[in-house]
Amino acid sequence: MTDTLDFKLTKTAHSRLQETDFDNLPFGRTFSDHMFVADYADGEWKNFEILPYGPIAMSPAISALHYGQAFFEGIKAYKHADGTVSIFRPEKNAIRFNKSAERLCMPTLPEDIFIQSIAAVVDLDREWIPTKANHALYIRPFMFATDPYLGVTPSATYKFVVILGPVGPYFSKALRVKIETHYTRAAEGGMGYAKAAGNYGASMLPGRKAAEEGFDQLIWTDAKEHAYIEEMGAANAMFLLDGTLITAEAKDTILDGVTRDTVIALAKEWGIPVEERKVSVAEIIEGAKSGKLTDAFGAGTAATIAPVGSFSYNGEEYFLSDPKTRAFSNRVFDTLDAIKYGRTADTHGWNYIV
Ligand SMILES: *Cc1c(COP(=O)(O)O)cnc(C)c1O
Repeated sequence: MTDTLDFKLTKTAHSRLQETDFDNLPFGRTFSDHMFVADYADGEWKNFEILPYGPIAMSPAISALHYGQAFFEGIKAYKHADGTVSIFRPEKNAIRFNKSAERLCMPTLPEDIFIQSIAAVVDLDREWIPTKANHALYIRPFMFATDPYLGVTPSATYKFVVILGPVGPYFSKALRVKIETHYTRAAEGGMGYAKAAGNYGASMLPGRKAAEEGFDQLIWTDAKEHAYIEEMGAANAMFLLDGTLITAEAKDTILDGVTRDTVIALAKEWGIPVEERKVSVAEIIEGAKSGKLTDAFGAGTAATIAPVGSFSYNGEEYFLSDPKTRAFSNRVFDTLDAIKYGRTADTHGWNYIV
């Protein structure tokens, strides 16, 4: 591990901080003053730099645009009441970042460089971290191929970039979700476990169709039979069925979520049985009917803990209990919230202090 990362720093001459409306922060539309950029060429990472947030010039032939050699991460930084700034479990994202890189035949980035580059730009833009409840600084690291070459072959050059933006809650109400039985997010042998840009491009048409039908979100099912629940949009789907926390096991069609891992760790501590296994649509429907399904939510960095209000399957809608009354997901939300904002001791070492 290197202690400090050497980078060139060019500060903005025109901060946009004062003109930013922190009372109105739709997800992903507001960006902070600076960004981190590095280049990969000649087999190594170089040109580490923090500079004002802004356009990046590139060739129209870069293979990221044509063949999708591109992927991203999503992390959040929080400001505690005493001004401390923490980033939630970035070492998990560093590991996943490199899993995505390997799947897409792209170069890995040493974990310490990943974390230090993020910490450096978050530190510089710490005034951008909102202090309101449920607000955070969203961190978006990503990598893309930059060879100006139209051959279908891995690029020899890449860019690693980190941009930041203040965000409020992603979802504001319990979700009406549709269990998708036609389209597929990921298949065995595919790249569902990677945060590959192409996975999200492929999700947009099914997502739009579901929205047109009045749904807030999709639940993806397995590619073979559409009989097993895999994920909920860009969050992991988790259920409390008959007192047991169940979720799809993190295999090649599942994004191995940091929030998912965190929820599992808390459940185990609280003595709640956890099963990472195939979750059938049939047992979820059965549980909704019998009342044994006492909790259902999406778990993700952007979405945090997003309660499912109802789910539809083949035109039939099943309603769950009022999210306010759900013991498990509320306990998870409150516990995580207290850790992230530094209101309780971080006994797990989940907060990386900037
Ligand atoms: C990002 C993402 C998640 C959630 O992962 P976290 O690490 O908890 O943010 C789950 N599923 C998909 C498909 C995702 O893209």
